[in-house]
Parts: sequence; C-alpha cells; structure tokens
Amino acid sequence: MKKHNQNLLHDRRSFIKGISFALGASALGMPLISFSTGAAGSSETGSDSEFETVRPSQKKLGVALVGLGSYSTHQLAPALQDTEKCHLAGIVTGTPSKAEAWKRKYNIPDKNIYNYDTMQQIKGNPDIDIIYIVLPNGMHAEYTIKAAETGKHVICEKPMATSVEDCKRMIDACNRNNVKLSIGYRLHFEPHHQRVMELGQQKVYGAVNKIEAADSFVLRGDPTVWRLDKELAGGGPLMDLGIYCVQGAIYTLGNEPSAVTAKFGEITRPDYFDEVEQSIDWQMHFQDGAVAYCSSSYNDSASRLYGKAKNGWWELQPSFGYSGIKGRTSEGPMNLPNVNQQARQMDAFAECILENKESRVPGEMGMRDVNILMAIYEAARTGKKVQIS
Ligand code: NDP
Repeated sequence: MKKHNQNLLHDRRSFIKGISFALGASALGMPLISFSTGAAGSSETGSDSEFETVRPSQKKLGVALVGLGSYSTHQLAPALQDTEKCHLAGIVTGTPSKAEAWKRKYNIPDKNIYNYDTMQQIKGNPDIDIIYIVLPNGMHAEYTIKAAETGKHVICEKPMATSVEDCKRMIDACNRNNVKLSIGYRLHFEPHHQRVMELGQQKVYGAVNKIEAADSFVLRGDPTVWRLDKELAGGGPLMDLGIYCVQGAIYTLGNEPSAVTAKFGEITRPDYFDEVEQSIDWQMHFQDGAVAYCSSSYNDSASRLYGKAKNGWWELQPSFGYSGIKGRTSEGPMNLPNVNQQARQMDAFAECILENKESRVPGEMGMRDVNILMAIYEAARTGKKVQIS
C-alpha cells in the first residue's frame, strides 16, 4: 500500500478505528440492457419487512452519504438538493471537521451523523432509508455489507468492488437482508446515453459493427492518493474510467462481450505509476462479430463514445462527464438536454424502493462489469485473448 498523506491519516486515525480492507477475499421505457445474474438470486426481489417501513405516501426517502470526498461534496450532496424522491438525511465520515461543516451547510441533525465505527447504528434510524457508499473502491465491499446489515437499501459507487468475489459477497449480503442494491451508474439516466442505447439496441441504423470508447484524464498532484494505490483502487484508469467504456459498449449493443484482448501502455511517469497502470488499450469482442476498441489513461485527455452501424453512425464527445455532453449522428446533431445525472439516478433508485421495482443498474450489473475488468487485466498481463466466463 502506498504511503498516504500523513495529515489526513493522523486526523483519521484519531477518529476511525479498525477500518480493514476486505481485499482478500428509461426514460425509454424498455429493457435497455441484457445482463446475466450470475449471483444467487436478485437483489431486487424486494423486502416485505423493509417495505412495511417505506410507504409510498412517505415524502422523500432519506439518503446517508458514506465518505465525504470530492464526489460526495461536489456532485452528490448538491444533486440531493435537486431530487424529488429523496434528500440528504445523514452522513458517515472519518473526518470530524467535515462532519461539522456538513452539519451546518445542510442542516443535518447530530443524531444523523456517524463515523465508520458507529455506522451500524443507522439500523435504528427511521430518517435514513438509503446508504450511499462513496469510499475508495477497495472499501466498497466492506461498507456495502455493513450498510446492508443495517437493513437500509444501498447504492454503491463504481467500480462495485475490486474483485468478483467481493461483488458476490455484497449481493449476498443485500439479498440476505432483503435490501436493494444499485450501482452509481449515472449515465443510464442521461439522455444522450439513453439515445445511444436506443440507436444501438433497436438497430435504428442497422446492426452495430464497431464501437470506439475512450475515457482519460491527466492525474496530477499528490502521488499518494488512493487512486494510485493498488489495494484501495484495485487498479488504475481501467477501474476508474475504463469502466465507462465497458458500460458504453455493452449498452450500445445490449450484449456482453464474449472475449477481450488488451495491452498496458508505457509508463512514462514511474513516480506515480509504480502500483497501477498508467494507461491501457483493450478490445471487446462480441458474439455477433462487433468489436469495441477502447482506451483509458491517467496521462491523456479523452471522453468519447462512438458507434458505427451498417447504415449510419453516432458519437458522443465529450461523453462521460457530469455535464456538457454533446452528441451527433450521421444525420446531424442530437439536440438533447443535459440533465442533473446524479439527481435522476438517485430519484430512480428511490422510485424503485417506493414502488418495489427492479433497479436499472443493480449489483449484478456491477459484478458483470468487474468480471470484465478482471478479464481485461488478465489479457493485458498474459498477452492472450481471454474468454469472458
Ligand atoms: P475522494 O478521495 O475524493 O474521497 C474519498 C473519501 O472516502 C475521503 O474523502 C474520505 O472521506 C473517505 N475515506 C475513508 N477512508 C479513506 C482512505 N483510507 N483513503 C482515502 N479516503 C478515505 O474520492 P472520490 O469522491 O473521488 O471517489 C469516491 C468513490 O466514488 C470512488 O469509488 C470513485 O470511483 C467514485 N466516483 C464516482 C464517480 C461517478 O461519476 N459515478 C465520480 C467520482 C468518483 P471522509 O473524510 O468523509 O471519511
């Protein structure tokens, strides 16, 4: 594990004890994607006991954010001011100064403020219906399982976990506790991406034969950040950004790849990339002959999802950001609105709970994607074509 920023650790150590890493171990109104449910049962079978406590007449469901880092601070908390079916009700943080600042800013009562040791006490708190895990990837499994054990529904950020085994444990824990599990796949609720799903899956321009996807940014600053730590991140840009390319290709086609090939890029900044890859290129091969050519890097800038079909093409660029997405097809501009993706995503999950519906982005989808990411790493390590099992 990398050496972390000492001030952060010092502040944290006095507040958190015993964080352990569990690493060993439509808007279109149609089924937008096919995915296999490899795990035992579905997380969406509903909970009789839980639904007794969440009545449709209830105003807004309460969300507790776990981990008040950049995404919680700059996207999720503001989005929760814009949601119709849920609201920010609580926080779980290891940093006392953040607890104080959030309490004042969002008017959060003391009884809804937890740290990682007291989080289990959310069990008895009727203000909180959904626990949203926004921690480093390597902590998702442990805290999703803890959240499920409180009997609250769970959203877990992407990537779902750093191993398929952990994904299974998370799904099992949610099933055992009769709670729903959803992954923070915001782009399923974004109009341009929904249009791509429609164009590809409904073969509007005929069968899709080629996809190109790239998601990259230049990572600068503190080289001890968790994103560069293998244990906490699970890997480099593939885990963090490449997952959007995997998702984009799959929801363009409505099918999963049958095999992958991959190659790590050259490391030009070894001071940063001594544990995780700096960049990676990979291809996903689909049963019908379609191929997705993908790349992801922490040392480049890219945000593009392109699809080519028999009689036309489409492109989103920029594609994967929180706003400013632009789309065009071989017929011209898409002219679709940009929306608050996170607000839509969280409202959609709240609706699933209130109406006992299946999440469009369930744990099984998160596990499917982690399985593909692991196959891509294997292909890059071995230089061989790896079948997706
Ligand atoms: P940050 O580093 O900004 O925040 C992570 C937070 O986790 C910290 O601020 C801290 O919160 C808490 N934490 C607890 N233990 C540790 C530890 N050992 N090291 C570091 N942080 C710790 O990360 P992000 O907010 O950018 O990412 C969090 C998750 O959200 C990741 O899984 C990421 O992939 C995902 N994400 C998803 C996005 C999307 O578009 N869907 C966009 C960005 C991120 P505290 O001080 O409160 O304890």
